[in-house]
Amino acid sequence: MLEISHLKEFLDTPKRIVITTHPKPDGDAMGSSLGLYNYLIQKGHQTQVITPTDYPNFLHWMPNNSEVIVFTEEVEKSKSLVAQADIIFCLDFNSLSRIYEMGDLVRESNAKKVLIDHHLEPEGFEDFRLWNTGACATAHLVYEFIVDVMGDRELLNKDIASCLYTGIMTDTGSFRFRSTTERVHQIVADLIAAGADNTLIHQLVYDDFSLSRLRFLGHCLLNKLEVLPEYNTAIIVITKEELEQFDVNTGDTEGIVNYALSISGIRLAALIIERQDVVKLSLRSTGDFPANEICKKYFSGGGHKNASGGISNEKIDAVREKFNVILPEYKSLLVK
Ligand code: 5GP
Ligand code: MN
Repeated sequence: MLEISHLKEFLDTPKRIVITTHPKPDGDAMGSSLGLYNYLIQKGHQTQVITPTDYPNFLHWMPNNSEVIVFTEEVEKSKSLVAQADIIFCLDFNSLSRIYEMGDLVRESNAKKVLIDHHLEPEGFEDFRLWNTGACATAHLVYEFIVDVMGDRELLNKDIASCLYTGIMTDTGSFRFRSTTERVHQIVADLIAAGADNTLIHQLVYDDFSLSRLRFLGHCLLNKLEVLPEYNTAIIVITKEELEQFDVNTGDTEGIVNYALSISGIRLAALIIERQDVVKLSLRSTGDFPANEICKKYFSGGGHKNASGGISNEKIDAVREKFNVILPEYKSLLVK
């Protein structure tokens, strides 16, 4: 594996580049991918962002979003782009198994693979790595890639800045998580200087709810929120039928788990959703409680200490019942 600085030379001449990220991309996944895209096209590279799945509408405003292709919607085109690429950038995920079928294609491609990520324990499939678990967002690392590694601060335009601002804003919970250091504020200041319209971006991402999304949130909080005071834990379980009943779209469930965590004294919050063929879990925690450990041990997942996720092939009731075993195991950490 080579230091990322070696990539500078490799990028001296025009290349065919694919950028990909994790399934159901969030603000950081799309912000870092499109931020990097808007930079690489300025450098004359033939660049394509391919997402493994679709992503929320509130991210579709980002500059050059119309150029993105979704793997599940354009399988053959995606396959050929990945196979013919000189370089594949993998952003905001740490293992090829995370991107399903695309993972095998990336592995088989002769392209140089570049990992830019801030998750724990990268698998190590890449040729070049820009990896820092202390980074607040992958967009933070893309900023450092452009400015520090490539030395291209003067290419940081409004399009790039708007995308990277979105990534940092969403992954830091609007600049409030502990990862939001002085350095992060300096980067954000520079992004605003480069043209990111911070007020507008907050509106585009956070004030673009459909009525059904808001009603669904109300349903979750009123009817579905279960609080277990003896474990300082709150759980929300959502079935397939409820997703249909409230016409829930991609991205509509984002942020719901944070409401459960916002209850005074709650240290662990879990959102359990019955998707088409799998049950998806989102866990959030406060302080040093390792939510990612639960995801790794019980739900084939992982992530950050305070924000992690996983899946289960069991029935949704069985997944909920699993917490009756898990919570006693972690009681001393949850009630201390
Ligand atoms: P979310 O709950 O927003 O879907 O995900 C929060 C974080 O958990 C993500 O940034 C990612 O680090 C991690 N994560 C979510 N789902 C999975 C998963 O299925 N596997 C792994 N390894 N990590 C996940
Ligand atoms: Mn991220």
